Amino acid sequence: MLRTFITVVNENGIPVHHGVPKDITKYPDCMQIETRSEKVNFNKLQKRLRRLTGQAIAAYNMIEDGDRIMCCLSGGKDSYAMLDILLNLQKYAPVRFELVAVNLDQKQPGFPEHVLPEYLASLGVEYRIIEEDTYSIVKDKVPEGKTTCALCSRLRRGILYRTATELGATKIALGHHREDILETLFLNMFYGGKLKAMPPKLISDDGKHIVIRPLAFCREKDIARFAELKEFPIIPCNLCGSQPNLQRQTIKGMMTEWDKRFPGRIESMFRAVTNVAPSHLADNRLYDFSKLVPRGTPVEDGDTAFDRETFPLQFTADNDEETNTEDAIIKPVNIMDLPA
Ligand code: SF4
Repeated sequence: MLRTFITVVNENGIPVHHGVPKDITKYPDCMQIETRSEKVNFNKLQKRLRRLTGQAIAAYNMIEDGDRIMCCLSGGKDSYAMLDILLNLQKYAPVRFELVAVNLDQKQPGFPEHVLPEYLASLGVEYRIIEEDTYSIVKDKVPEGKTTCALCSRLRRGILYRTATELGATKIALGHHREDILETLFLNMFYGGKLKAMPPKLISDDGKHIVIRPLAFCREKDIARFAELKEFPIIPCNLCGSQPNLQRQTIKGMMTEWDKRFPGRIESMFRAVTNVAPSHLADNRLYDFSKLVPRGTPVEDGDTAFDRETFPLQFTADNDEETNTEDAIIKPVNIMDLPA
């Protein structure tokens, strides 16, 4: 795919837009300063997303021979990207699996009903659109001014589980990515008092289904870029009129800021989620501290007990287009090299 991209700057020379030319009508007083082909970047980006998805699938044995996978499509960038990548993997994977795309039309005002059927028909993928007016139920049951998401999500979940059973799906695939996993980790720590994130694979809460998150290793900004370049027909996510979850927005903002100020921190945090040391936390259910006995031999990666652990002062990662999540370079900065 060869796409032309532009950067638009305002009268102060500040970039206000970078993307497809059709969007520049939004900036009538600004000027275009750069036009370039992004073919190479797109190919690399697509390869990276496919590779990371394949790695996550392999790492957690997400897909097995004969699976019938229900891909939940919301109309947002993540689920479009997931379906696109899984359709590609289906062609080359060493195991045979089926995909069926499912969208739940919750009858929110202004929901463009034609968009997903047209898109899915153009792909030639099996799909099912479920129409259930959960919007009216939620509006009816939840008092004005109260948050509607809890009931809405519970209803949606029940409908999707039922659909998975009807379709004979062996797995349910969701489009959550690396940042979703980390945001959940922080939400649970800050507001829930739990060290708990979002697993790449789990048993559904009704105990009947296996849920997988094939994009678990993918960066959100890569997915956003991919969605833009592929021109997925995105359906807005605010049709229900619900306020955005402020706690999640705050965490998102914090992580975005960290990503700018401390390159490599997000990568390091995600590695931490995959590299847990129960013996160095304080949960008796995970590690039986009462039975500890000295064995008389050095413990690999053991705690020195008296000294605080030392860490590199700063992590750096090359965050440009070519960076791979798993390749992010983490370089300790020597204190002697720091400016006085
Ligand atoms: S944002 Fe709207 S659609 Fe999403 S869970 Fe909340 S109420 Fe439901």
